[in-house]
Amino acid sequence: MVDNVRTHKFKAETRKVLNILTHSLYTNREIFLRELLSNASDALDKLRFLQNKGESVRAGDLPLEIRISVDKEKGLLQIADTGLGMTEKELIDNLGTIAKSGSERFAREMGEAGGKTPEGASPQDAPDEALAARLIGRFGVGFYSVFMAADAVEVISVPAQGDEAPHVWTSDGGGGFSVRPPEGEEAALCSRGTVIRAKIKADAKEFLEKYRLESIIRKHSNFLSFPIFLEGERINTTPALWREPKFSITPEQYHEFYKYLTYDETPPLDTIHLSVDAPVQFNALIFIPATAQDLFSHQQERWGPDLYASRVLIERGNKELLPQYLGFLKGMVDTEDLPLNISRETLQENTVLRKISQTVVKQILGHLEKMALEDKDKYASFWKLHGKYFKFVFNDYLNREKAAPLLRFASSYAEGGFVGLDEYAGRVKPEQKDIWHLAAPSLEAAKVNPHLSRFRRKGLEVLYLLEPVDEFALESLGKYKDLTFKSVERAEAKDLEPFADAVEEEPSAVQALTDSEKADLGQLVEKIRATLGEQIKEVRLSDRLAGSPAVLVSPDGLSSSMEKLLKVMQKDEAVTPKILEINPEHSLLRALLRIYRHDAENPLISELVRGLFDNVLLLDGCVNDAGLMADRSLRLMDKALSWYADLLKI
Ligand code: ADP
Ligand code: MG
Repeated sequence: MVDNVRTHKFKAETRKVLNILTHSLYTNREIFLRELLSNASDALDKLRFLQNKGESVRAGDLPLEIRISVDKEKGLLQIADTGLGMTEKELIDNLGTIAKSGSERFAREMGEAGGKTPEGASPQDAPDEALAARLIGRFGVGFYSVFMAADAVEVISVPAQGDEAPHVWTSDGGGGFSVRPPEGEEAALCSRGTVIRAKIKADAKEFLEKYRLESIIRKHSNFLSFPIFLEGERINTTPALWREPKFSITPEQYHEFYKYLTYDETPPLDTIHLSVDAPVQFNALIFIPATAQDLFSHQQERWGPDLYASRVLIERGNKELLPQYLGFLKGMVDTEDLPLNISRETLQENTVLRKISQTVVKQILGHLEKMALEDKDKYASFWKLHGKYFKFVFNDYLNREKAAPLLRFASSYAEGGFVGLDEYAGRVKPEQKDIWHLAAPSLEAAKVNPHLSRFRRKGLEVLYLLEPVDEFALESLGKYKDLTFKSVERAEAKDLEPFADAVEEEPSAVQALTDSEKADLGQLVEKIRATLGEQIKEVRLSDRLAGSPAVLVSPDGLSSSMEKLLKVMQKDEAVTPKILEINPEHSLLRALLRIYRHDAENPLISELVRGLFDNVLLLDGCVNDAGLMADRSLRLMDKALSWYADLLKI
């Protein structure tokens, strides 16, 4: 038979993952069973799908089930499913390579958490086992987890379609694997589907004990929709939880189901259980995770609830069921209004799904509304965890009005916390017609923004928009109740006139300029303009600055951060020139004027102007050439210190 054996080498990244799995993970080894059972269940789902479509499959009368048995003498654990099975090529492709991206991410995230790559792993930097347990299922390295507990694995598979003969895949989890025809008793073990025979490691004999296996199955795989038999006895008996009446379900059961679904050990923040009959029939279990989700990076493609038709899994992560701004939610939807044989392609633009989605979204928004009113702490946790995704609700034309009160922002009235629009509206001044906001890259930057001082003086609340999406959200809402959203950068003097100073203004200690000084100031402005050239559109004197020497204003009313975002989207590196407003009351400008009047050609003037401009740019959240900026600033410091030392004659 040797002729028929083909040996293959694992790719480098597969070997890397295997290395982590076999040599550094111990405490959570039991999850290998979860992974093998979930693969078996997937294969059964696929088979049931074919059958529902009316396609003929091998051994069509075989029940769809999973059978587990142990042979203690030989140290073998065997898991057999009657699912889709694999051809020789599929054995090689599916079990021979981990999707490259998956294995790389796995190795990288494990490496980051444990601080080491697998090659360099040492006992001191043991990997984070809990993290591994979560990552294994997520990055498609599930099958290989069997090598945590086994030192040799045999996979006998008989494809459900076509007439290809059975094949056996074997590996010891080292450098490679081989594929050959079955020998001896092997052929009789499988008439359709896949049998996995794992030679359990000497230090993992617990996985040959029935009671141990039973508890693992109950813990991780209780909700699998196919029967799991262990030595002939059915283990998983939990019915489809979502079909049970709500009052009969305990929080623990919800949590267990959530854990089964997500591998997340932390109980969900909230559970939404829906049973709806009209306009469409469906049951749904939707969870708000109590852990942060990562939708903006590699998880991007993986969101949405699982879709079932009459208890049969149709698709994991169906994106038609929820809009992306609710992508942080986990859960499932089961409907009787879809045919079982519906193909995944026709799920797009499906009217049944659209109706379900509309109802689910409405219910979720209602649920959040209630939470915001009745349990402010919980709502704050929700916002902290998922607000960055939920904000995108402004894209949802149908629901954004309803969702507006659910938005939260940082505010000059609640530094460190969040306020809602109702809260803002509830304390506006009688004459106030606008909701003022300020875009800034961080809370710290917002607090020192020169535009803010006038508002602070008038006691007007300003919302801090710390992410570009905040601006888009407000922009697209336009108004809240009777209040218009307006950026403080666009506030004109007349907008603030109606409001008395809330904070006593310090009487200006600055002397008024004489006429001749005023004339020279005009020339100095010209000089500043000439010095900065293309970098600015215009220089003008400002009345909006208290305490700040200068500020940038955008000529077209776009806020700075919005502009930056547009730039990123258009991949445009150039900075659109802005207007530089300077404050002639500020001591820095006064000193500059004195130097200018003494000697208009003093090179220090342009040096100072550039230094000032650097700082204004920084405040605006934009760094053009950090090296040059630092260099200029150091030279100015150098000069100032030397003069001071000279002055002191030291
Ligand atoms: P994932 O399940 O995330 O795809 P795994 O490493 O768990 O990753 O499995 C790799 C692939 O091997 C599966 O996608 C499937 O194609 C195949 N496979 C594994 N176990 C079985 C099985 N019992 N029956 C059929 N195919 C299987
Ligand atoms: Mg898997």
